[in-house]
Amino acid sequence: MRFVFRAGMQNIEAFRDFLGTPRKMVILTHFNPDADALGSSLGLSRYLKKKGHEVIVITPSDYPEFIGWMPKPGEVLVYKKDRVEKIAEIIRQAGGIFCLDFSALHRINDMGEMVNASSAPKVLIDHHLEPQKFADFEQWDQTAASTAELVFELIDSLGDRDLIDPGMADCLYAGIMTDTGSFRHSNTTHKVFKVASALVEIGANPYQVSKLIYDTNTIERLRLMGYVLSEKLRVVPEYRTAYIVLTSEELKRFSSQTGDTEGLVNFGLSIKGIRLSVMISDRKENIKLSMRSLGSFSVNEMARAHFDGGGHRNAAGGQTTLTLDQTVEKFLGVLPLYKEQLMKDE
Ligand code: 5GP
Ligand code: MN
Repeated sequence: MRFVFRAGMQNIEAFRDFLGTPRKMVILTHFNPDADALGSSLGLSRYLKKKGHEVIVITPSDYPEFIGWMPKPGEVLVYKKDRVEKIAEIIRQAGGIFCLDFSALHRINDMGEMVNASSAPKVLIDHHLEPQKFADFEQWDQTAASTAELVFELIDSLGDRDLIDPGMADCLYAGIMTDTGSFRHSNTTHKVFKVASALVEIGANPYQVSKLIYDTNTIERLRLMGYVLSEKLRVVPEYRTAYIVLTSEELKRFSSQTGDTEGLVNFGLSIKGIRLSVMISDRKENIKLSMRSLGSFSVNEMARAHFDGGGHRNAAGGQTTLTLDQTVEKFLGVLPLYKEQLMKDE
């Protein structure tokens, strides 16, 4: 059975039936959850609770402190080695599994297998390109700027807008604000403003949310930012590319916490003439690439083709199991393949 619930809203009645009996629901979101991942998960979890379900949100890794303020209606579990059995049991017992803000099961690491093995109905709510087909029910729209926007639309199309309270509205607003780069990226459509406006009408507080997310830096984070901009940002004009390489020693030197490097990659794109910006950093588990682009140049394609990743056209990520130096070499070696696309005037 596959319900498809794209922006066209087919099969909403089947989904309504699914929500009609109380179930043990599990909400999963992607590795390194950002404000959209966590905000949409917590917003949805509160809604499902209000509809009479038991809900547990599970994240594959820890989330940054700047989204720690989001109101948690119930249990939020972070995947850890010593909790594997507990989490496996929760997924086995689930009567419904929601996958938010990711569209490939490997993005939730070991939990991907557990989800695959479960016979519970699966619901995908996401806006990433080229989703894997594993869900019984999809609300997938690649033109949506954020998953939070899709959660709002889902609740609204079920006729339940009045169940959204100010706390949920803050969570969803946070996802929209960050995934649009504070209403600046090319995904900032009329619909984005309409949903944001509805959330503010319900009680979301744009001033508070942006203070909580953007103005809670530690001094170490600002110093890391200063160091990166003055010492680590490289420009390759012949490929209209900027990139940053961060070693694990540097991350340690600035006491880097989860989320501290978020946004650094965007600085490269603010340089006049640059179309591709990449940050390559040495994480404990692997080498992580964070990629941003302008216009028609697709970092989703580059991440998929060379770095075991994906995402959106203008914001994607990937990883390697090479060393940091080898990854940088690989990246610089890949650039000539894209020279024509990178140099294209738009
Ligand atoms: P970020 O650079 O902020 O980590 O991620 C940018 C976008 O790319 C996000 O939408 C994120 O979900 C996606 N993304 C980041 N890393 C990966 C990855 O390893 N695989 C895939 N498929 N998507 C990724
Ligand atoms: Mn998102």
